[in-house]
Parts: sequence; C-alpha cells; structure tokens
Amino acid sequence: MIEMDERTLRNVVIIGIDALRADHLGCYGYQKPTSHNIDMLAGSGVVFDACYSCINTTDPAFTTLLSGMYPVSHGIRKHAEGLKPWVYNFNKHPFVLIQEVLQKSGYSTFGLDWLGRWHKRGFSYYLGTKYKRTPTATNMVNEAIQLLETTTGPYFLFIHFWDAHTPYRAPEHIYANFEPDGEGTPLAKLFSGISNPKWKRYLMRAGGDATTAEEMVAKYDAAIAYVDQEIGRLVTYMRERGDFDDTLLVITSDHGESLTEHGIYFDHHGLYDATTHVPLIFVNGPGKGIRTAPFVQHVDIVPTLFELLGVGMPGKVHLDGTSLVPFMEGRGGAGRPSIISEEQHTQRRVAIRTREWKYILAPSRWRMACRNCGHTHGMPEELYDLSSDPGELSNIVAKRPEIARGLRRELESTLRGRRNRVLHRQIKQATGKIFGIVKPRRSD
Ligand SMILES: [Zn+2]
Ligand SMILES: [Zn+2]
Repeated sequence: MIEMDERTLRNVVIIGIDALRADHLGCYGYQKPTSHNIDMLAGSGVVFDACYSCINTTDPAFTTLLSGMYPVSHGIRKHAEGLKPWVYNFNKHPFVLIQEVLQKSGYSTFGLDWLGRWHKRGFSYYLGTKYKRTPTATNMVNEAIQLLETTTGPYFLFIHFWDAHTPYRAPEHIYANFEPDGEGTPLAKLFSGISNPKWKRYLMRAGGDATTAEEMVAKYDAAIAYVDQEIGRLVTYMRERGDFDDTLLVITSDHGESLTEHGIYFDHHGLYDATTHVPLIFVNGPGKGIRTAPFVQHVDIVPTLFELLGVGMPGKVHLDGTSLVPFMEGRGGAGRPSIISEEQHTQRRVAIRTREWKYILAPSRWRMACRNCGHTHGMPEELYDLSSDPGELSNIVAKRPEIARGLRRELESTLRGRRNRVLHRQIKQATGKIFGIVKPRRSD
C-alpha cells in the first residue's frame, strides 16, 4: 500500500452515479446547485477534466470500470436484454474484476448494486434485488453504513446510484430548488418525431408529472442533488468512524445523458459528448486540489487502484488502461492523444475523439437506425470540429474528408490492437462487422 504524508490508504470506495454527465456538476462548470458535497470533495482531491466513457450503456461500462479492459477486450458490449444468453449467464468470463483481486488480498468487498449476473463476482456482500425495485440513494447509503458498522479490516465498497437515470428521482423538496418557471417546450412536441410508439410511451411515463423538457432537466438536476446529499451523509459517517482519510474515494459515472441534444431525449445513446463526457474525481489519493486535463477513460481506474494499493492482476490477465497516479502527482505529461468510444445496444456506432475532432462511424447499415426512437440519428460518418463547434452540431465530413480518413485509420488500428486472445473468436467477428464499411470483405 502506498504511504502518503504518513497516511496509509486502506480502503476504497467507488461511487458510480448512473447517467451522470460531467457538465451538470458544479466542479465541471454547472451553474445550478446540484453538487455541493461532490464539489467540496473535488476541491480536496484530483479532478480529471477529460474522462470519456468507453461505451454508453451500464453493463459494459461498469464491466470496463471494474476490469480495466475495453469492451472489445472483455467481450461485454451490449446491455441487459440485448446480451446473448451465453454472455448473460456466463460467470467465467476471462476477465478479472478488481473486487475479486481485493477479496483474495483480505479485503471485505461490498457491492451495492443490483445488476446481478457477472457483476456479483468477488463481492463478499452483494445487494442484488433486496428492494424489488431499484434502491434509492437513501437505501444505498443506509446499506453502506450498516455494512461498515460491522467491518473492521480493509474494505472495498462499490455503490451504484440509480436516481439520475430515468425516471429521474428526488424528494419533492429537492425538486423545488430546480423547478423552472415560465413556459417550456412541451414534451409532446419534443417527442413528436419519435416513430417508435413504445419508446414514446416509455419517455412520457419516465417524465411522471413533467410536461416540459425544462421540467425533465430540473428532475435530472434534482436527482443529482439528491445523490449528492446522500454522498454527503456517507462521508459524514466515514469521518465520524474515523477512516475517511485512509479511504480512496473515486466518483464517476458509467456514461452521461442526452437531455435534448441531437434529437436524443433523456437517454444515453449516441456518442456525442453529452453522453460520453463523464466526471472522474479521486479523493484522498496523491494530489490535493488538482485539476488535470489528459484524456482518461474508465479502463484507467483499475491500474490506478492497483498502484495505490500495491496489488496486481493475477496471471496473464491483461489491462487496457494505465495508472493515473503520475497525473495525480503532477508528472504525467500530456497523456494519450485520443480516446475511443463505442455503442452496441440502441444503435451501432464507434467514435474517436481528439482535442480538436470527433469522428463517429456507423460501422454497418445493420442497426444504424436507433431501435429506441425508430429512426436514424446522424449520418453513416460524422466529423465535428470541436474547437469551433463544441456542441457537435455541424457535420463537416464532406468538407474535410482527409481528416475523417485519418481518424478512421487511427480508430481501426486502435481497436485492432486491443484483441484479447481468449476472446479471439468473438472479437474477430465483431471487428469484422465493425470494419464492414471501412474494408469490405469479399464475403460481405
Ligand atoms: Zn447506466
Ligand atoms: Zn434514438
């Protein structure tokens, strides 16, 4: 374990706030009061300004966070009902989750999560479906406190807060702080372009009594504020317990949320920044009050924890990420030049983002249309100049084909280099499909 200022890091708490986009937190520039406690924690720790999800749905994103592997390496690329039965039930995936390693190193491992399936692996306590419906932030923090009350040795705690996922959920008195005044954009008008009636019904139900887009955004903000309040309660408890300073706290989300951007409403599909830019904050690690801007992704969290805790991956299991400790200590340099993200669930897209450009590719005509909304978002290829168009509004792929070609080549070679030998067969098939447009094969 790493010694820092005469402190020894003993415990790890990972807080994953589902569907939390970075730019709705004060510490990432948001003007509304969503994140009093997270902002205080961020001020005393290290804030990564440029963390991007590897994939935009919960199952594969959390698998990446806990394994240190890209979805193309660990093989879980779809989500929930989109998973094939062998993936759904297969408990022996050739990846190791950090809680399995820590459990073997003597940690009590607590998973306050209900996704089930392989997510349960390595937890000495796993919440599962105890609450029948998804537990609230209050339920989660009550559970955490109850677990820690009877824990004496080192512990690893993973908390998956669901409240900022539709239907956005917060007590009425918190919502009152965000309630918009005046008339807004009617949801019925906003959703009129959605041709899948089932999805339209789902969204209307998810809104509860909200009738405008502004009210939905207020509900989203209130849900973040509610989770933030409960995080504050957990931190207060840990301080009283006396081990907060010995505990590495990681705050992040699995993916963001498109609120109205790009014609994608209150869901997390599309690979635009609204859905891929996520918070990443380390508290009580090396570095205090630091903001750092290298491109980082969830694959980097496991290698960082291993370095800080002095444990390592067993055997031949490989990690795609690299430790962020050098950045936390202010000696990391510029970091990687680009990040990649993919989506496989609602529609199929793959994207590469540099500081200046975002290039999004629909890898085949199959599943180019959005199965939620019932129509196609964007074009087969999209290119955005982020320096003049940070909102990704003007697709300039036809104007700058040479930039698009270069990024497509980089995307292809980055993904090709990430094959996991054990999953060779699946990944070969997947990359065969991914590159269907890039390099048509004779069999296509
Ligand atoms: Zn999620
Ligand atoms: Zn859609």
